Amino acid sequence: MTARYLREEHHIFREAFRKFLEKEAYPYYDEWEQRGIIPRSFWAKMGENGFLCPWVDEKYGGLNADFAYSVVINEELEKVGSSLVGIGLHNDIVTPYIASYGTEEQKQKWLPKCISGELITAIAMTEPGAGSDLANISTTAVKDGDYYIVNGQKTFITNGIHADLIVVACKTDPHAKPPHRGISLLVVERDTPGFTRGRKLEKVGLHAQDTAELFFQDAKVPKENLLGEEGKGFYYLMEKLQQERLVVAIAAQTAAEVMFSLAKHYVKQRSAFGRRVSEFQTVQFRLAEMATDIAIGRTFVDRVIEEHMAGKQIVTEVSMAKWWITEMAKRVAAEAMQLHGGYGYMEEYEIARRYRDIPVSAIYAGTNEMMKTIIARQLDL
Ligand SMILES: Cc1cc2nc3c(=O)[nH]c(=O)nc-3n(C[C@H](O)[C@H](O)[C@H](O)COP(=O)(O)OP(=O)(O)OC[C@H]3O[C@@H](n4cnc5c(N)ncnc54)[C@H](O)[C@@H]3O)c2cc1C
Repeated sequence: MTARYLREEHHIFREAFRKFLEKEAYPYYDEWEQRGIIPRSFWAKMGENGFLCPWVDEKYGGLNADFAYSVVINEELEKVGSSLVGIGLHNDIVTPYIASYGTEEQKQKWLPKCISGELITAIAMTEPGAGSDLANISTTAVKDGDYYIVNGQKTFITNGIHADLIVVACKTDPHAKPPHRGISLLVVERDTPGFTRGRKLEKVGLHAQDTAELFFQDAKVPKENLLGEEGKGFYYLMEKLQQERLVVAIAAQTAAEVMFSLAKHYVKQRSAFGRRVSEFQTVQFRLAEMATDIAIGRTFVDRVIEEHMAGKQIVTEVSMAKWWITEMAKRVAAEAMQLHGGYGYMEEYEIARRYRDIPVSAIYAGTNEMMKTIIARQLDL
């Protein structure tokens, strides 16, 4: 059954994008995983072909495409591999901050290059000492003439090595009460004096994703790089985190669907005790359970996508989708690996990579514990 928000044009777009990925991504993905990075040339090809930020207004070079196109792009990227998450982050998580809160000048300057792939973006909230507790970040930005002087450190930043533009959450008023009122967003550009990047972090999974640390030591950021208003950063983050969580749920749902297919394919061709493994009732029941979980996840995420596209408030629903679907995908990963027997533990089988890539979806974009905290707040307890 296809989702109600997908029309003929989205199916045609999906076919075109899939063909592009078959030529430009699938054949190279293992090499990117080994090298630990996705080459910029791939980003440029994505841009040339209209697959970066197609939702941006035509005025800035975009296609004015609706969110269903973003869903298609994120699903197809996830089918190649989870390390492509940085592209979804650029398309549907970071660039929207510029489009929503940027001045006309900022939009003219940056949006066309985000679409072409000349500029790769990142968002830097997390610090070594503060992740979930975002209001208590300690990076500061102090106004000095025409600049903000930024000091602090960020960690776990997706696209951290490639990024040319980084939306950095910092305290412009470290004494604000409550603390979240002191947070502002600054756009830090690649060559900003005092800004350096650390090493590419060695992760359990997402091996081709360039996750990095960022350092700011008296970094001089022009005051016109403030995004929106001073002191409103936390509110902007809370608003944009909804689409970020939806994108994570969409990717995890897609990953679960891929892992189910891998397991099903494997048990149908593997034999034991003179039968195909898929003929054992216990195996069939496990696949039936996985298929049920996946169908429930798909129904729910499609509903949240529709509501998001209709401009509805989705804070509670998206928190539910994010935690439930990512946990479901982790269960599917474990079952799918088990059904592969020893081969599932071998790198040459895709399920091995999928198994180590999926757990982070329960951690980033707000941990699943934080999702439950948000849901509980709505329960009138
Ligand atoms: C691969 C990867 C990519 C990432 N990309 C980015 C990025 O691009 N930009 C960015 O800013 N960040 C990024 N992050 C950071 C990510 O968002 C944080 O790791 C996450 O928000 C959790 O923060 P933390 O690691 O500081 O854990 P902590 O906040 O220290 O949490 C530790 C544990 O305590 C739990 N916990 C904390 N508070 C509570 C509470 N009140 N109630 C119950 N349990 C609680 C958490 O759920 C967690 O299980 C990335 C992380 C990873 C691993």
